[in-house]
Amino acid sequence: ALPSFFTAIMIMSRLMAFIGISKNNDMSSKLQALDIAPKLSHDPSAIESASQDFGHIVKAAPQAVLLPSSPRDIASLVNFSYSNSVPFSIAARGNSHSVNGQAMAKNGVVIDMTSMKSGNGTGIRIASDGSYVDVGGQQLWIDVLNATLGLGLTPVSWTDYLYLTVGGTLSNAGISGQTFRYGPQISNVYEIDVITGTADFVTCSPNNNSDLFYAALGGLGQFGIITRARIPLEPAPKRVKWVRMLYTDFLDFTRDQELLISKNGRNNNKALNYLEGSLLLDQGSLDNWRSSFFPPQDQPKIISLITKFRIVYCLEIVKHYDGQTKTTVDKDLQQLLKGLSYLPGFMFEKDAKYEEFLNRVHSEELKLKAKGLWDVPHPWLNLFIPKSKISDFNDGVFKSIVLKRNITTGPVLVYPMNRKKWDDRMSAVIPDEEIFYTVGLLQSSGFDDWRTFEDQNKEILQFCEKAGIKVKQYLPHYTTKVGWVNHFGSKWSTFQKRKLQFDPKLLLSPGQRIFNNNQ
Ligand code: FAD
Repeated sequence: ALPSFFTAIMIMSRLMAFIGISKNNDMSSKLQALDIAPKLSHDPSAIESASQDFGHIVKAAPQAVLLPSSPRDIASLVNFSYSNSVPFSIAARGNSHSVNGQAMAKNGVVIDMTSMKSGNGTGIRIASDGSYVDVGGQQLWIDVLNATLGLGLTPVSWTDYLYLTVGGTLSNAGISGQTFRYGPQISNVYEIDVITGTADFVTCSPNNNSDLFYAALGGLGQFGIITRARIPLEPAPKRVKWVRMLYTDFLDFTRDQELLISKNGRNNNKALNYLEGSLLLDQGSLDNWRSSFFPPQDQPKIISLITKFRIVYCLEIVKHYDGQTKTTVDKDLQQLLKGLSYLPGFMFEKDAKYEEFLNRVHSEELKLKAKGLWDVPHPWLNLFIPKSKISDFNDGVFKSIVLKRNITTGPVLVYPMNRKKWDDRMSAVIPDEEIFYTVGLLQSSGFDDWRTFEDQNKEILQFCEKAGIKVKQYLPHYTTKVGWVNHFGSKWSTFQKRKLQFDPKLLLSPGQRIFNNNQ
């Protein structure tokens, strides 16, 4: 069955490309006849904004932008394309914080999910017993946080940055320092509503339409548009103890990270609630969106450490607590940090409100925006690396490529997570080892020099291939079929089968370039 499926996909995607130009006028006039026509915008500014994303590298203009009021509008659009003799592509656009055009639909229709604010079953509704929250796929995580905190509750798994939509992060995985203990966001979903590529509206969960549930979570938008997710809640802590420790030895740094994540029981009160790590590079200052943590009076000694060693590793942890347990949390932390090998005199502590900690990137965003440094190209590279090779990666990439090129600006994250907290039935792809690291080179560049950063990213990937480091990309970006087949590995045949079942006309999320490499 495989070769014929390949052939069908090739023919379909070539046909769609071939008819691309002539179909545009035809499609526009047919769309005008639909009941959702008043919600379809052809306004140049709407088209321009749907042609861009946070990456500012890829541009692809749609024919129109749908501003839906309800999931029914989305189903109408998908149904129209699905039943049309000349189907067109459709991309749900969450908050457009992808960096490689993943939420774009060249010559198709982009659905501006955020126009569907609340109501119609897509608001934020907390269960009467407080055990879960139903959230529209277009909702931003910051709004989910604020709504649930109002009742003293919170989801447990987050991303570093909260101005992302629920549908957007669930289409990838949603990772942060909580992942080692609670799993990624896709491991923390009870149920989702999905409009498939055949315009069916399906409620799915592990017990109900489970194939679609597992397909859509981490599914890169390929199987359907998530219009609602049911997310488990727990009592929210009031405050956090937030600690950063510096290392100059990578082995000490990773040994301590792995030791700390070995205590990862969800109900283990002694375990940390969050663990990340990052590189401090000699960039002349500590000025990026993770740096304001360090007290100003300590910054000179940190900078001289970086100048001397060129790379300093920063381990970051958080322990939740409530006001009355401050002494207890200090004791718990002391116990947890006993015997770690960070540099004496280079441990820094903060005490913060829970929500201040979770929303930490936003204040940095505002600072960068004020300096005109937020809406710039972002040639990012996010990888998952098996634990057994993380030291080779440090030698070959951080200490060699990154130092040699000396161009990296922006945060470089490196922290471990546990495979057992992920569900292998889902579409998300991770390395084949019990512990693996995420490395994020979250670089910013100028509008003229992003290619230099892309060259560095390519060099890193080539190095990994040569050195036999079996990395998996997170927020993956490939431009060839071979790239995608290798990425999915043993999951590829299931991924294809599910595509054929839930989006046989290859309508959805064309900007990922999985089944339509000509886009
Ligand atoms: P978009 O970029 O709009 O869409 C992403 C993909 O999902 C597209 O293919 C789109 O078609 C599809 N899609 C969107 N909505 C839906 C839906 N409702 N149903 C089905 N498919 C949909 N990620 C992490 O995991 N952890 C982090 O800590 C983290 N930090 C970030 C910080 C910043 C500053 C930025 C810019 C990104 C960060 N990301 C992080 C990456 C982020 O999770 C992804 O880029 C995510 O896709 C962005 O969500 P979005 O709502 O902007 O989605």
